[in-house]
Amino acid sequence: MNLKYLGTAAAEGIPGVFCECETCKKALALGGRHIRTRSQAVIDNALLIDLPADTYLHYLQHRFPLYSIKQCLITHSHADHLYPLELEMIKKGYSHLSDYSPLHIYSDVDGYNKLSEVVNYYSIGEVRLHLIKLNKPFAAGEYTVTALRAAHGRASSPVVYIIEKDGKSIFYSNDTSEYPEESWAYLRTLEKPLDLISLDCTEACNNAEYEGHLTLDRCAALRDELIRAGAANAHTQFILNHFSHNGKHVSYDEFVPLAKERGFAVSYDGMEVEV
Ligand SMILES: [Zn+2]
Ligand SMILES: [Zn+2]
Ligand SMILES: [Zn+2]
Repeated sequence: MNLKYLGTAAAEGIPGVFCECETCKKALALGGRHIRTRSQAVIDNALLIDLPADTYLHYLQHRFPLYSIKQCLITHSHADHLYPLELEMIKKGYSHLSDYSPLHIYSDVDGYNKLSEVVNYYSIGEVRLHLIKLNKPFAAGEYTVTALRAAHGRASSPVVYIIEKDGKSIFYSNDTSEYPEESWAYLRTLEKPLDLISLDCTEACNNAEYEGHLTLDRCAALRDELIRAGAANAHTQFILNHFSHNGKHVSYDEFVPLAKERGFAVSYDGMEVEV
């Protein structure tokens, strides 16, 4: 599988949409990998993860075939991950497609409700919504996907996803801190270690202890825990993702060596990884 990071920031983006802090000024001045848009990823140009307002920007920047994608997973309903109103533009007339088979979107309950409201209000027949069940593998096109509960508050019904194809696996795990027991219980039953684990590192080198996001130190401890649980091993690629401008030493050039020292790669907008 090919995982392409389209956006790698927390809700504000880097630079933050309304911000003139030093990290944001530096990102603007240096550009390139210092700029992070809101989180989204695509696997094999076929399976989209999240549908933020930055989706259109990502389409322009990375030229992935958004028009032909038929599978989309939603991690949770926060606005930096889900902007349902964009879906009106997939309707016949607003779009011209060679294949009008539906775009399948999978979400837990809060995202599902927000999507349903828009899909029903605008009568969008080009979209089919699926309410996921936790800890139960399901088919999304050619992929086997399992949603696990994330630790990110309850209101947005957050999940993280294990995505499998051809014996390879990707664990897309952001907007979560250390998993709740029900998710650990599933992770302990995996038949083989995951090939790639993408972790939330919103707070970078801060000492934040709150539930919902992680720091570099906590990512290192979580990796150890995943290895102990049998969900990862020495061959698992670990990538840190989903960064906030409020994170200490979060600027790309500062953070990459700090993460590397601890054995982590760092995502950037446009990064591609193979498993
Ligand atoms: Zn987020
Ligand atoms: Zn800022
Ligand atoms: Zn969130």
